[in-house]
Amino acid sequence: MANNGNDGNNDSDGDSDGDREFFRARLIEQRDELLRVRETGEQAAGTVELDQGKVGRLSRMDAMQAQAMSQESNRRREIRLRQIDAALGRLDAGEFGWCFDCDEEIARLRLEFDPAATRCLSCAEKAEI
Ligand SMILES: [Zn+2]
Repeated sequence: MANNGNDGNNDSDGDSDGDREFFRARLIEQRDELLRVRETGEQAAGTVELDQGKVGRLSRMDAMQAQAMSQESNRRREIRLRQIDAALGRLDAGEFGWCFDCDEEIARLRLEFDPAATRCLSCAEKAEI
């Protein structure tokens, strides 16, 4: 059976398009969710409502605490969005899935858990200590 193999344009360098599309879809899904939360002002967990009627019944401390929590979750969301955008950029550049610190490949399971991960597990653990 003759197969000259000259038309093989997939599996070129082990970074298969299927994987890239899988992670791209995951990242876009997460980004869309964050953007939706940003637009609606809705919090992912434990909605903090600060409309006029309710603020009246909250103590000043409670209101300040709720506001601080809301600002903190906004801040985290913006950081997360930047991480996701950066990961999408790495996908486009063909640099996705490599540890920033040691240049080793990041474990696939870790990327499935967090496609925006920038470090392999051992470097991430070192960074967090
Ligand atoms: Zn590493």
